[in-house]
Amino acid sequence: MAYKEKPMLSTEEMKEKLRQLRTQPYWWDMPEEAYKELEEVVGPDKISREKVVRQAYVGRGYARELIWFSGQAYPPCCVIQPETTEEVAAIVRICNKYHLPFNPCSSQWAYNANPRFRPDQVQIDLQRMQGMEIDKKNLYAKVEAGVRYGHFCQACFDNDCYFINTGGGSASCVIANHTVWGCSPFNYRMGNPERRVMAVTWVTPEGDIVRTGSWAGRETTAENGFWGDGLGPNLNGIWRGHIGWFGAMGIVTEMTVKIFPFIENAKEAMVPEGVTPDSHTAFKTNRVAWQNIRLPSRKALEDFMYAFSHCQIGAAITKVPVFWRVIAKAKDKEDFWERWSGVTKEDIDNFHMARVLLIGFTNEKQMEYERAVLDELRQEFGGEFTRTKPSDESWFKNADTSGMWMMTNGYSSCEAGQECLRCTYETGKKLGKLLWEKYTPPFMPEYGDPGWFQSNDFGHSSYLEFLVYMNVDKCDPLSPYYDPGYVQSMIGWYFEETPTIDAETGFLDFFPASCHGILFQGPYFSDYQVWVDRFKEEFDPRTVSNPPAPYDPEWITEMLPPFMLNRSRRFLRTIKRGKSMLLQ
Ligand SMILES: Cc1cc2nc3c(=O)[nH]c(=O)nc-3n(C[C@H](O)[C@H](O)[C@H](O)COP(=O)(O)OP(=O)(O)OC[C@H]3O[C@@H](n4cnc5c(N)ncnc54)[C@H](O)[C@@H]3O)c2cc1C
Repeated sequence: MAYKEKPMLSTEEMKEKLRQLRTQPYWWDMPEEAYKELEEVVGPDKISREKVVRQAYVGRGYARELIWFSGQAYPPCCVIQPETTEEVAAIVRICNKYHLPFNPCSSQWAYNANPRFRPDQVQIDLQRMQGMEIDKKNLYAKVEAGVRYGHFCQACFDNDCYFINTGGGSASCVIANHTVWGCSPFNYRMGNPERRVMAVTWVTPEGDIVRTGSWAGRETTAENGFWGDGLGPNLNGIWRGHIGWFGAMGIVTEMTVKIFPFIENAKEAMVPEGVTPDSHTAFKTNRVAWQNIRLPSRKALEDFMYAFSHCQIGAAITKVPVFWRVIAKAKDKEDFWERWSGVTKEDIDNFHMARVLLIGFTNEKQMEYERAVLDELRQEFGGEFTRTKPSDESWFKNADTSGMWMMTNGYSSCEAGQECLRCTYETGKKLGKLLWEKYTPPFMPEYGDPGWFQSNDFGHSSYLEFLVYMNVDKCDPLSPYYDPGYVQSMIGWYFEETPTIDAETGFLDFFPASCHGILFQGPYFSDYQVWVDRFKEEFDPRTVSNPPAPYDPEWITEMLPPFMLNRSRRFLRTIKRGKSMLLQ
């Protein structure tokens, strides 16, 4: 069908539409005394209530569309940049005193790092907290909240070590990422995030400073942050939990994390090359290699993943979805669609590729051994090796995020989490089938592909992520192409269909709190929302720590037109709760 351009809304029309969507005035002036007290903590050059500064913190980050399109992105009432834990704690105490909600932000990759639904939040920007020390002998590192993966991963290379980096890329921060997800194909050997974290300095929602693990009751030097658990209950479950609090349980200012031995002279072996969007790390060594293996059937791919993990070789193993390969080949969006329109369901049903990372950690002989085992596995499962570039575009240090949006300018990662491999496979298949049979169109055809999965912890757990591509023009109320029916499908798929499939298979998705509702998922998983409420009441009695997190999706549900998400609305009103002050 020929594309017909529609006229944009005029500025006046846009203003009027935004006015209708917003429920609060855009700018809010904070009390003078509170501002003065905050200023005394950090000094006048590290706090601002200039509008131009505050505007820079409006509606950023992943899944921002949810907030933006419902007109719920607001500027903070001031921005403050502390440099020490003591300053953070003092700021939090002042916020408690004046009942001012505060919002910590690190790199602002997630939408709940900026104010939503209200204009009175104090934005605590942690990016000046840049301390980083590496203990190469004992293989751990101490980082402060502003340290980003790009710098950290390079520092690890400089010490012949390596660490994870997220698919979101090197710009996100090590601590913030470990308070929420912390996932990468490298979790195959490095374990899940909660196991990499050792000692932590945590400023509670009321402004107390708590040290965990071997930091408990001590100075936070790198030397004494070597151990994750102290005697008694493990506090990591409080400040982190499983799906993350998204700033609703105070602020982690310092952390020690395990780092992992890599190869000698890593800095010379892992060389940055190219200019974005073609930037990558070139392997100038024969002790690091990605290898793609094409397998004859879906079952062979699934079993290969078990067998590979069982042999305990490699540093990562992940399934390759077909559209990744098409993105990698496409020069631009037009080129992507040229290529993708030639793909059929049969192509997808017959494409089964694993991608493994081999590292000769100790020497070249190890690399030879790993290659030999891999070759035996390949033969056993009837696979074939395909040509694989000696470079990496994302996991070691770089970022390929913009490529992930290329096809439709927007996607929703409607599902991600860790479970056993069996559960991952079954959940991916159900999601793929439902997307194809009921939601294609309107969404980009994925032809029943069962998502992107990888083995974690040598196969003891695994990771599943399922991406769905939507036309963002149809979701934006300010766009001339806005289509409420389309939004209804998108939001229904995202907020209700995927958690229902999770409930059927038992897959505990870790996107509630950011992408769909805890109150929708909780009842299927032992009513864990009651515990969320209880912890919130106990630790944040004034509800100042980044409200309404972790209940943003529930608030979004209420903001949407009344004909959308009826099942979610029913859940919101009827499910079992603690005595929460958040949603009564
Ligand atoms: C395209 C894309 C792909 C991604 N892929 C992956 C992936 O593969 N694996 C993965 O693990 N992640 C992934 N992410 C997540 C991302 O990389 C970030 O790690 C994550 O969003 C948080 O990091 P941040 O530094 O941006 O924190 P922010 O966005 O600044 O903050 C995140 C949340 O934590 C709170 N917060 C910030 N700092 C602190 C702190 N010090 N203490 C307590 N709370 C805090 C904020 O209020 C906010 O609610 C992806 C993101 C994108 C956009």
